[in-house]
Amino acid sequence: MAKRVYLFGKGITEGNGGQRNLLGGKGAGLAEMAKRGFNVPPGFTITTEVCTAYYANKRKMPAGLNEEVKKAVGAIEKHTGKQFGGHKNPLLVAVRSGARESMPGMMDTILNLGLNDTTVEVLKAKSNNGRFAYDSYRRFIQMYSGVVLQIERANENQHDPFEIIIEEARNKRGVKHDNQLPEEDLKSIIEKFKKLVLEKTGKPFPSDPYKQLEGAIGAVFASWMNERAILYRRKYKIPEEWGTAVNVQSMVFGNMGDSSGTGVAFTRNPATGENEFYGEFLVNAQGEDVVAGIRTPLKISAMATTPNLEHCYKELCDVRKHLEKEFGDVQDFEFTIENGKLYMLQTRNGKRTARAYVKIARDMVNQKLMTPEHAIESADPEALEQLLAPVFHKESYQKAINANLLLTKGLPAGPGAATGTLAFTAEKAERWATHGPVVLARVETSPEDLRGMLAAKGIVTAKGGVSSHAAVVARQMGKVCVVGASEIDINYSTGVLTCGDKSIKEGEFISINGSTGEVLIGKIDTAPSELIQVLIDKTMAPKDSELFTEYDFVMKLADKYRKLGIRTNADQPEQAINAVAFGAEGIGLCRTEHMFFKGDRIDYVREMIIFAAEYAEYKSKLAQRPGDAVLLENEYHIPIMHFKQALEKLLPIQQEDFEGLFNAMGERPVTVRYLDPPLHEFLPQNKDQIDELSRKLDVPFERVSQTVHSLHESNPMLGHRGCRLGIVYPEISEMQSRALFRAALAVAAKNKKSPKPEIMIPLVGFERELELQLELVNRVAKEEFAAAKRTLEYKVGTMIEIPRAAIMAEQIAKHAQFFSFGTNDLTQTTLGMSRDDAGHFLPFYEKEAGIVKSNPFATLDQIGVGKLMEIAVQGGRKTRPDIKLGICGEHGGDPASIEFCNGLGLSYVSCSPFRVPVARIAAAKSAVKAMQSVAKPVEKPTAKKAVKSVKAKKVVKKVRKR
Ligand code: ADP
Ligand code: MG
Ligand code: MG
Repeated sequence: MAKRVYLFGKGITEGNGGQRNLLGGKGAGLAEMAKRGFNVPPGFTITTEVCTAYYANKRKMPAGLNEEVKKAVGAIEKHTGKQFGGHKNPLLVAVRSGARESMPGMMDTILNLGLNDTTVEVLKAKSNNGRFAYDSYRRFIQMYSGVVLQIERANENQHDPFEIIIEEARNKRGVKHDNQLPEEDLKSIIEKFKKLVLEKTGKPFPSDPYKQLEGAIGAVFASWMNERAILYRRKYKIPEEWGTAVNVQSMVFGNMGDSSGTGVAFTRNPATGENEFYGEFLVNAQGEDVVAGIRTPLKISAMATTPNLEHCYKELCDVRKHLEKEFGDVQDFEFTIENGKLYMLQTRNGKRTARAYVKIARDMVNQKLMTPEHAIESADPEALEQLLAPVFHKESYQKAINANLLLTKGLPAGPGAATGTLAFTAEKAERWATHGPVVLARVETSPEDLRGMLAAKGIVTAKGGVSSHAAVVARQMGKVCVVGASEIDINYSTGVLTCGDKSIKEGEFISINGSTGEVLIGKIDTAPSELIQVLIDKTMAPKDSELFTEYDFVMKLADKYRKLGIRTNADQPEQAINAVAFGAEGIGLCRTEHMFFKGDRIDYVREMIIFAAEYAEYKSKLAQRPGDAVLLENEYHIPIMHFKQALEKLLPIQQEDFEGLFNAMGERPVTVRYLDPPLHEFLPQNKDQIDELSRKLDVPFERVSQTVHSLHESNPMLGHRGCRLGIVYPEISEMQSRALFRAALAVAAKNKKSPKPEIMIPLVGFERELELQLELVNRVAKEEFAAAKRTLEYKVGTMIEIPRAAIMAEQIAKHAQFFSFGTNDLTQTTLGMSRDDAGHFLPFYEKEAGIVKSNPFATLDQIGVGKLMEIAVQGGRKTRPDIKLGICGEHGGDPASIEFCNGLGLSYVSCSPFRVPVARIAAAKSAVKAMQSVAKPVEKPTAKKAVKSVKAKKVVKKVRKR
């Protein structure tokens, strides 16, 4: 049987930092710290595999686990010289969850487990500190009751029932903080707590430590499936199968008096990336006090001058350096000081804003503290969009300041500017967000507020520091956030936020700046980020922007690693120019139909479509009866005239569009997809429009309305579109080809650089379709080259967007120099789901029934649609080993899909201009990941590990001796 319990602590550590999957992030971090000589209280980790087994086993502990746990407790007893439930020197433990990826605030920790009416007296006697003993006991009951017994506040407007009891005690005693309550008050609080538990559960609070431990372990596993955890995983795409580990660790006490305390810190500032020690601590406090925002903590630097703790500050500064060196990244760590002795309780790679990410990556790579690979690996591609987030518009902001609308300044916790209606509850935030931007204000946030935080543009809290729940979660979500705005008073019952003599009501506008901490009354306009100013608006010089310099460093690094080319989907020169500024290397998809939506062009397209069918009819009759040419020409003279005239008018317009694109793209490849609209998209919809068009074209109303009617399709998505248009009406493809070659030739003649057109035929399913279109394109090319007396390089290829094309790729590749996966249509046609209609049932499939893991139109269905792509890649390469392969569906900008494309060995992905930076990083990240999985095989199978753990112990001992 696989090993299920791993010890950690000085000299007994069995796991290591590489075993995140098995031990969870916390367990792996504790093991690694213990191995590397940091002072870690000993304990053990129950693996994530046990969690999986627990769920497979209908939420029951696997057989034999209890015995293994007892054995591990025994090892800790031996190590610490204390006894679990013992009456001489009781061992108390913390029970801590820990998934692979940290999930801030999602899972609850239980401290001081092992206390009961007997052991608390021993603790009191041994520590000679009754206040401390009873404080620990009341905390334990409170946490255990919340997490295991599930006694919680009734709704978000109410306080925790245990906190109410404490508050009563504080009020009665006339003190502000819990730590000012004397021993006897704590004792009576404990009695009240126990009474509450009996009332709510009908059973007394459990006193047997092993029973307590069993309950706590079960609750940690159960919490993996609580609503908060599920919501969080969905947002961050953390697979449900991973499960969580449980860490059981001997307690150290930060609440033993003035030479004790607890804190959390980052080795660098996670909001800005500044190389400064960043963190908070509380004297004489335990556990979540710092993050819960109940007491406002002190800045870490204040420890240098805190009596009894000065020496600990020095030690912490060493820890800070040591951690970065050992772990190669910014660390987010938790510590506790017990009677002047520093203990490490956790470390992990610090979550950071995108702003901090680029700065940290550049600085730490330059300082040789971080490998360039890790700089790429640690990127969150999706979050890079934060860098493009707006800031306050200078003038609008100044106006607000002059009008004295500045309310207060809290702590900056999530950069950017946000303005929106003020909401006090998650429920209102969610509801109002459907109508416009919302700013959520809470005294402090807790995991129940997650929904509201997701919906809000910005978050502001009155209490709590920079590592409070609100700050941590907001940073990760990329939300604008201000915390600890302690001057404001948030009154949930009246719905008014007050600060001095100013106030805002719920539903009115508030503005916050998460980079400075400012909170203002009213609506303030926002302005583009520096990156936009440098790259797009060109209103700022690159060297003047620190942000740009760092961004540029990271992007260049990414370009070194990535294998995939990055192209963009653009049909206007301006879009193309923006995309190039963001680093696009070509156009992967120009949708020519988009070019026709502008101005009165649509009328020419309509003219073309209205008369196309009759023109085709004329041609087929002519082919059958060549002798009747004059007669037919006479009969069809109106459609002939209109159809030809429309094409003639469209040609120069289209040529001009192409020239614009070629000019913007220089020698970069430009993939032009021929016309592919469902016809009805172009046709007039109602009577007035038909009337207007018939007057413009000078043809009778009935005629237009009849055509509109006859062109109506039941399933336009599967109708007369794509190459089917160019096959039935080759004149359209011919016009597009002529426009394209003329444009390319004109630009080539004018500039020194030759454009590189790549013609892409849409919706091909049959080899013959492509063959026909290819012949046409080649013929027009020849004619235009002859006329211009010069030639150009060009490619012709096809989109793979219906299953038949993927299956027949080997044949189709005979005529295609490239394939581009049109994964929007390929997903629609493979799944048989229309993207426009799937909204009726897809959310149910995803969220309720769990049939799909994520929306297949946003993230590629890798095993289904991806399978067809694989088939097409193989088929294409068989016929044409050097065939160029790309993707131009919406998925081209989605990091998970990009990783899949990297694995398929595509040559490029194409995405919308503003996604280009995301795609560059995502491509680099997937390349680094692929490189590393080749370099170091994943964790060894666990079965073997169990055997090896004995050897591992010996190695650890050796290391220690050195
Ligand atoms: P989270 O996953 O929410 O960070 P943790 O398991 O880290 O939860 O526990 C939260 C807090 O509880 C820690 O920051 C620390 O202050 C306290 N804590 C955890 N383990 C111990 C321990 N062994 N001794 C003392 N305090 C602990
Ligand atoms: Mg923690
Ligand atoms: Mg398509």
